[in-house]
Amino acid sequence: MSQGEAAEVLAEVARLEARWVEVRSRLLEHADAVAVQERNASPSLAVWHSNVTRSTKRESFRQVRLAEGLARHVLVREALGRGDLVAEQASVICTSLDALPDDLDPAVLREATTALVEFAQVHDAKALRVLGRRVLDVVAPEVGEAWEAELLDREEREAEKSSVFRMREDGQGRIRGSFTVPLLVGQMLERALLAFAAPKHQVATRVAGDDQRGQGGSEEAAVPVRRPTAQRLGAAFVELVERLDAAGLPRAGGVNATVVVTMTLESLQGGLAAATLDTGGRVSAATARRLACEAGIVPVVLGGRSEPLDVGRSQRLFTVPQRLALGVRDGGCTAKGCDAPPAMCHAHHEDFWCRDGHTKVERGRLLCPYHHRRIHDPEYETEIGGDNQVSFHRRT
Ligand SMILES: [Zn+2]
Ligand SMILES: [Zn+2]
Repeated sequence: MSQGEAAEVLAEVARLEARWVEVRSRLLEHADAVAVQERNASPSLAVWHSNVTRSTKRESFRQVRLAEGLARHVLVREALGRGDLVAEQASVICTSLDALPDDLDPAVLREATTALVEFAQVHDAKALRVLGRRVLDVVAPEVGEAWEAELLDREEREAEKSSVFRMREDGQGRIRGSFTVPLLVGQMLERALLAFAAPKHQVATRVAGDDQRGQGGSEEAAVPVRRPTAQRLGAAFVELVERLDAAGLPRAGGVNATVVVTMTLESLQGGLAAATLDTGGRVSAATARRLACEAGIVPVVLGGRSEPLDVGRSQRLFTVPQRLALGVRDGGCTAKGCDAPPAMCHAHHEDFWCRDGHTKVERGRLLCPYHHRRIHDPEYETEIGGDNQVSFHRRT
């Protein structure tokens, strides 16, 4: 066979296949009418068909569903019988037509059917599914608008009811989970995550890295904007939750919705003793100190005889004017070579909780979430240069 012949024959086979599907569909319809499943006491036509043809139940149900759809939409069946559609197109068209309002004028239904069969000459089943949802806009715009409104209303109600959120501990210091939320909420969450996983910062830290030197200077503009990886989105999600402002959360029965972290004064000032969460969990002293810099948790500091010295001191956090001052002074993350903008940064306290308890701009600095972790990371030593930039050195 030549190239041209192979191409022609394959196209013809697809047409013949479609015609066979139409024949099978009509036979299935007839088999249903004569209750062929009674022959071996099968519970349904699809189960009987699956047993007899050794196809999976899933495939048999699909074939029977298509036969039923074609029985309702004769124009689609005729197009399939001519080989003008393939089976998956016919199936999508039937589903789209079935989703139209029940009280639709038969003339409009006919027009919608004709339009979809015509679209199928150009579009595959996936595109037809989208077109199917908008077909009334084409053939009957006045009906289409009201119908879409009703359809969206129904979908949104369903989505609201089916919202679920699951999480469980995996016993290795992590929690795994899954969730289902309405489309809008999911996209809001995605926007928020993308803001934290801003590609600009990603590019900036990469360009700042040693591996980028000697490649012809700053090429930031040329770096394509990529979708953040699952890891970056994960880091963004962590950041989103840690930044939840305690003041903005509802109180349940007088109890604050934030996690309370209890630690000793010694731990707060650099000791090693782990901190305790009011959930019963434990976190390292370094993590507790880092969290104390931002608003996400309420720390309780214990004195010598395990008496609370301080509960969520109001002066612990920088005020809005102080943060603005830090932003103007630091212009973003103060780690050497990092140019995360001020809005992405945490306000880190050089000495947490100094004795008079006041948070001073002179003792604070902006650090991006990544470098904020590093400055609290016992594995790193830091050095502050004359330009107020922090250099990190891994302890050996
Ligand atoms: Zn800090
Ligand atoms: Zn940084």
